Formats: sequence, C-alpha cells, structure tokens
Amino acid sequence: AEAALRQAQKMEAVGQLTGGIAHDFNNLLTGIVGSLDLMQTRIRQGRGDQIEKYIAAALACGQRAAALTHRLLAFARRQPLEPRPVAADALIAGMEELLRRTLSERIALEITAADDLWPTLCDPHQLENAILNLAINARDAMPEGGRLTIAARNAALARTDARRPPSLAAGDYVQIRVTDTGTGMAPEVIAKAFDPFFTTKPIGQGTGLGLSMIYGFAQQSEGHVAIASEPGRGTTISLYLPRYRGTASPVRPPEPEAAVPVG
Ligand code: ADP
Repeated sequence: AEAALRQAQKMEAVGQLTGGIAHDFNNLLTGIVGSLDLMQTRIRQGRGDQIEKYIAAALACGQRAAALTHRLLAFARRQPLEPRPVAADALIAGMEELLRRTLSERIALEITAADDLWPTLCDPHQLENAILNLAINARDAMPEGGRLTIAARNAALARTDARRPPSLAAGDYVQIRVTDTGTGMAPEVIAKAFDPFFTTKPIGQGTGLGLSMIYGFAQQSEGHVAIASEPGRGTTISLYLPRYRGTASPVRPPEPEAAVPVG
C-alpha cells in the first residue's frame, strides 16, 4: 500500500511537471517559430540584411528551452532519499559560509538553535538543498536588503496543540524556521507556491521547483512544510522534521558544496 501510494504521488507529480513544462515550452516554441516566420518574411521582402535580431531572439528562446530540459532532467534524476540521524544545528552552522556568499551584503544573516535540539531523521543533503533554496527565495524577496533568520527548535506537538498543522501527525519534531523581511506573498501566491513550475520570477530566473521539491522532501520525511506570509512584511517558511529517537550518533554535516539551487 505504501509503495502504491508513493507511485500514485509520483504519477501526480509527473503530471504536474508535464503540464508546467509543456506550458513553458510552448511559450519558447512560440518565440522561435515567430522569429523564424519574421525572418522568412524579411527575406521574401528582399530585406535579408535585417534578420539579425530575429536570429538572436530565436537563439535566446532555444537556449532557454535547452536550460529548461536540463533542469527537468536534473529533477528527474534526483537521488532517492537516504534518511539518517541528523544534527540540524550543526548542519546549518556548516552552511553559514555558503549562505553568506549566496546572500547580498545588504542582508543580515542570523542563525539560532535551541541548546538541547533533538536529532532529526531525514536526508542531510536534501535538508541542505532545502535551506539553500529557502535562502535564495528570501534573498530574491529582499532586493533592497533586510534580515534572514534561520532558527531551529524542538516542537513537541500534541494532538490538541493549536500550533500543529492539521496534516501533521502529533509527535516530536525539529522545527526549522526561515524568516525574511521581504516582499511577502499574496494569498493567491501562497496557494500555488508548492506547485511544480509555479514561479512569479522572470523566465530564466525562477524554475518554480524550489518549494515543490521542499514539499516533496518534507512529505517523504514524514514531516511538513508551512508558509506564513504577509505582503509587505515578510515570509516565514517552517519545516518540520521528525525527531530521531534511535541511539546512533547523528551524521556529520555533508560538504556544503553538494547543495544545488534549483530556484
Ligand atoms: P522559484 O523561486 O523558482 O520561483 P519556488 O518554488 O521556490 O520557485 O517559489 C515559487 C514562488 O513562491 C516564487 O516565484 C515566489 O513568488 C514565491 N516565494 C517563495 N519564497 C518566497 C519568499 N521568501 N518571499 C516571497 N515570495 C516567495
């Protein structure tokens, strides 16, 4: 049943992916076909010397389409999750240098963690990817600068706990909150933010895959991801990952260079 559910979820994701890709691809093909059409017209009019800009436009669309397929292939080739005991505080601390390089100088970075933070059970590389992608989103939402806070704490969520997201089973979690002081998100953006290929960024800058991958990671880790945002004030993304209760010692943080931004 577990495997069937996973397969169904995979098929659903593939369906959404295909729809998103088809849409973006169609836009790029329209650009290429339109440019070729204009070139043909100019040549027929005996103004073949004026086709340079149409060639440039067709090339640009073709290159963007190629970049899109590359990202799709990278997405399809994602490594299967390898959950292990992870010390999230050490993992985040190990990313500090990478995060500072990723953010602009006008963004202050603050990292905090509870002293007695529980180990969590998740794939450490995916967690790094998630945090890096959340930081990139936060950076993009703060073009004028601001503050990015990454805070990890223990969250023991009882069934009756008002803080427990309804879709999350009661239990012990490590909550990682990534908060920015950026543009915030309108309710209609929040509603679509986890959809694969949903982006409000210009073509070539956003892939719309960041939050959908984080959603998949949270689901498969038996955790949760939630958005709280207010337009004009900022955004907090909360990632809940299950507490690790075994006795194995947490893995050392992986090399930060392994993390890949997807948008
Ligand atoms: P991408 O970043 O490539 O657009 P994502 O899936 O990561 O893809 O995000 C989808 C959309 O959600 C973004 O285009 C943006 O509109 C919105 N978004 C995500 N994170 C933030 C944030 N921290 N602040 C404001 N908007 C955000």
